[in-house]
Amino acid sequence: MDERLERLNRLPLREDLRGLHPYGAPQLDVPIQLNVNENTHGVPQDVQDAIVEAVRGAAAGLNRYPDREFTELRASLADYLGHGLTVEQLWAANGSNEVLQQVLQAFGGPGRSALGFPPTYSMYPLLASGTGTAYLKGIRAEDYGLSAESAAQQVRELAPSIVFLCSPNNPTGTALGLDVVEAVYEAGEASQTIVIVDEAYAEFAHLGTESALALLPGRPRLIVTRTMSKAFALAGARLGYLAAAPEIVDALRLVRLPYHLSAVTQATALAALHHRASLMAEVEEIKHQRDRIVKELDRMGLRPAASDSNFVFFTGLRDAQRIWRGLLEAGVIVRDVGIPGSLRVTAGTESETTAFLTRLEELLSQEG
Ligand code: PMP
Repeated sequence: MDERLERLNRLPLREDLRGLHPYGAPQLDVPIQLNVNENTHGVPQDVQDAIVEAVRGAAAGLNRYPDREFTELRASLADYLGHGLTVEQLWAANGSNEVLQQVLQAFGGPGRSALGFPPTYSMYPLLASGTGTAYLKGIRAEDYGLSAESAAQQVRELAPSIVFLCSPNNPTGTALGLDVVEAVYEAGEASQTIVIVDEAYAEFAHLGTESALALLPGRPRLIVTRTMSKAFALAGARLGYLAAAPEIVDALRLVRLPYHLSAVTQATALAALHHRASLMAEVEEIKHQRDRIVKELDRMGLRPAASDSNFVFFTGLRDAQRIWRGLLEAGVIVRDVGIPGSLRVTAGTESETTAFLTRLEELLSQEG
């Protein structure tokens, strides 16, 4: 055991945190970064300019605490989402990770449980353990699909306090039908389960893939989370949000830290929302590269999953680790999500995507 680990183990750490590993996607200085599903197209110039101006405006007032209710931002988010949503139904925090954490703080905790369906977003079990919530691993079909019947049955059996439905799912990229969300919500009636639909990648969905926002009316236990980290190219700004019944928002006010959203964050997010046209144009280009990756991987004899996100999960590799290393040697980092024979790649710019596909094909041909 290394010395630091020994010293950590000597601390009076909570028993349930012993032996855990922190969230660990490598942050390597590699020219082509396609490993954490960021927006690879950068922040458009008009959005950069608007952010700089908005932050300059906010700077003069930084001696005061920010608007604790971030009302203007919530109104702008409600306007962006549509679906007749009102300010009272919107909430935000520093990334959707913090939004999810607040939901767990309010509705999870000791003696309570959260159900996820692996392979899914790797932060769910960490957020659960951080809040003393038991994490239950649900089961998917062999092709990683999740049917309404199966999901509902598991919710009835396990009666969790919270269920995570990730749609489009990370790492597989595939969206869930709204029938799954409806069935899970109904199945959670007896246990009063809070249903979270994590739509971090919703803007990249194909036409016809519906958002669970449409299901909010009449469903007070349903929460839809979103983020500005992906489509809005603002991973560095940290702004995630949710839409739900106003009483859910009231519950989160009980656990949030006062003034948790800085004035700089609020100004940044508002500026980006006002200039969303150029950001949404980039989303279309990313979807184009995503579809190109699916088509090309298919041509190479691999098995890419159908993707409604800005990344592609693919299987059919003989030695995924060799391919991962080979790509890294060529300056391309993708994600090894720990599923044998599989990797996950974020859609890059046109040239980044070309570099990935070219190098991958070379590596595959070496297998003979
Ligand atoms: N949900 C999913 C499914 C994600 O993949 C991510 C980020 N990778 C998040 C939530 C959190 O994103 P953020 O905290 O940047 O909003």
